[in-house]
Amino acid sequence: MSFKDLQLNRPILRAVAEAGYDNPTLVQEKTIPLVLEGKDVIVSAQTGTGKTAAFALPILQRLFNNQEAPKKGKKIKALIISPTRELAIQIENNFKTYSTYTNLTTSVIFGGAPIEPQKDVLKKGIDILIATPGRLLDLHKQDALNLDYVETLVLDEADLMLDMGFIDDVKKVARLCTSEKQILLFSATIPYKVEQLANTILNEPERVEV
Ligand code: AMP
Repeated sequence: MSFKDLQLNRPILRAVAEAGYDNPTLVQEKTIPLVLEGKDVIVSAQTGTGKTAAFALPILQRLFNNQEAPKKGKKIKALIISPTRELAIQIENNFKTYSTYTNLTTSVIFGGAPIEPQKDVLKKGIDILIATPGRLLDLHKQDALNLDYVETLVLDEADLMLDMGFIDDVKKVARLCTSEKQILLFSATIPYKVEQLANTILNEPERVEV
């Protein structure tokens, strides 16, 4: 199977080709069509399988297809929650690479860094936000963030987030996003507590295992 077979648009195909990807990985082959259909998905995949592109590419594709007139001001339409700053930065870099030929914008926020510059970035308006849970909730509490327009929420490394004690934060974030959203949960393993979280916040999810 090729990326073209996955029905991705030309600007995205071009960026993927320039990144040197010849063909989709297994997790991408299985996940991308489900995300494009708008399904909730639980994906069990380790780092290194290409799981970031498995959610980033179809998210970009959907946002690219449904773009509003630029004058309206950008609203956060995709939110990716990551347990650590390092992973959040890595995800943002991937989104930046894949969105090179679109006008979709991406930003990253995390704890342990000054909050004011993050507020300024949010004020300007962005399409895609990658965040660690604690700082995201702080910014929301300070009214620096509107999650009413989030269409897709990604919980990356869910098992790690729960191990780090972020369960309540993650549930809170899910509640703060509008109700008609798509949720994608990625986890290296699916222990019972991840299953429980999925049962609480996902809606009839499809499952992908690689
Ligand atoms: P991840 O599992 O998302 O951390 O990705 C692992 C690495 O695989 C990253 O360096 C990606 O840039 C790379 N990658 C992702 N998808 C593909 C692909 N289809 N072909 C080749 N490399 C890829």
